[in-house]
Amino acid sequence: MTTSEELDADVIVVGGGIIGGTFACLLGQAGLNVILMDAGLRQVSSLKKTDPRVFAITLASEKILKKAGAWNRLHDEDIAYFRKMHVWDEHGLGEINFDCAAICQSTMGYIISHQAIVDALQEKLLEMDNVRCLWSVSPAFIKEEENAIVLGTEDGLQFKSRLLVGADGHNSKLRSLANIHYKKHDYKQSALGCIVTTEFAHGEIARQRFLKRGPLAFLPMQDPHQSAIVWSTSPDHVQRLTGIDKAGFHFELAESFGHELGDIKDSTERTVFPLSRAQADNYTKSRIALIGDSAHTVHPLAGLGANLGLLDAAMLAEVVVDSSQRDRDPGRLQVLRRYERRRKGENQNVMYLLDGFKHLFESQLQSVQWLRNFGLDTLDSLPVVKHAILRRAMGLKGDLPEYARRQH
Ligand SMILES: Cc1cc2nc3c(=O)[nH]c(=O)nc-3n(C[C@H](O)[C@H](O)[C@H](O)COP(=O)(O)OP(=O)(O)OC[C@H]3O[C@@H](n4cnc5c(N)ncnc54)[C@H](O)[C@@H]3O)c2cc1C
Repeated sequence: MTTSEELDADVIVVGGGIIGGTFACLLGQAGLNVILMDAGLRQVSSLKKTDPRVFAITLASEKILKKAGAWNRLHDEDIAYFRKMHVWDEHGLGEINFDCAAICQSTMGYIISHQAIVDALQEKLLEMDNVRCLWSVSPAFIKEEENAIVLGTEDGLQFKSRLLVGADGHNSKLRSLANIHYKKHDYKQSALGCIVTTEFAHGEIARQRFLKRGPLAFLPMQDPHQSAIVWSTSPDHVQRLTGIDKAGFHFELAESFGHELGDIKDSTERTVFPLSRAQADNYTKSRIALIGDSAHTVHPLAGLGANLGLLDAAMLAEVVVDSSQRDRDPGRLQVLRRYERRRKGENQNVMYLLDGFKHLFESQLQSVQWLRNFGLDTLDSLPVVKHAILRRAMGLKGDLPEYARRQH
């Protein structure tokens, strides 16, 4: 669909992770010419089963990945289901339970490793003649021209397109090259992730216990005795947890989780992720747009970061495809602002909501502890409100892009 002879592509995407990969697939499926570049090596790996980056994927994200042509490339053994959710507080008896059956759904969402999704996306990308993937390539400069933008790479290549899209994660190089300011708040917390084997079966329930240093989540994997854990806590504590031997780690983990799934029998290598919330001042500039973690990051306590990024990818793809189909220039700021208007406020609301939860659950004030236990119990006994929250969290309601609403 590239109209001008001199253009190398309609759109250049920098970053081929889950968000950039999905965006490139969505454009490729619509017939646009795309160049996707990533600083890393192409990884088709055997990491899938031990990858500690495991995502809770909403039903809205499932629809987007279907539209991108990647969902049906996931293997059955890559997908685990969570049908219920149990959240409780270390201090007191307050708790809340969600069940997808209560709103006539067969699942609340899926637990899938980052690597499995990236593999499925890469398989789809390689199949499309109109998408060119470049590995071990990073941008060095950008230069706007009258009707196009040029990107120069660190190894001396140059490419011209109508639009550049940054999907290169929270340390986005494209964002720096575009001089877009990024406001970052360090949570002074890190998350420890690994896969654990538990004494009791998880029963396809996602569990989260709020501890005084931060939340501890167990996400059910396909094996009934395996869960992916995300333990958000202070950096000192994480350092100690990564330094102790397996037996010591298993003991402390089981204790901290109130032995909800019994003893911890085994665990994979422990990986640490620093946590922050951040948002770019602008998601768009003339001929440039940011999506996913390059535009914003949120606390992982609700497992939403990648899901928000997939909504960005879907919204921007809709705007770009629509303008291309009408023979309009998709790099114009007026076009890109339609994307920014729909996504930036929504992401900001989620970011502050998660911040509020984090502070509420970390407070050691007795009055706040009483209030939050009372709040959890009250909410648990209000099915109408609870089901409304559940539908929103599952991606069945809200201001969703078209690609996230329709079955494809
Ligand atoms: C502990 C933890 C748990 C989480 N759990 C969940 C969850 O359950 N559900 C959920 O939805 N989200 C979750 N998230 C959030 C999720 O990990 C991120 O939101 C998501 O991975 C962002 O994807 P991305 O493609 O934007 O960025 P990334 O995954 O960071 O990918 C960026 C890509 O850009 C490439 N790149 C980087 N620099 C350059 C460069 N200079 N040039 C070219 N390419 C470059 C990288 O190689 C990479 O491929 C969690 C996050 C953490 C930390």
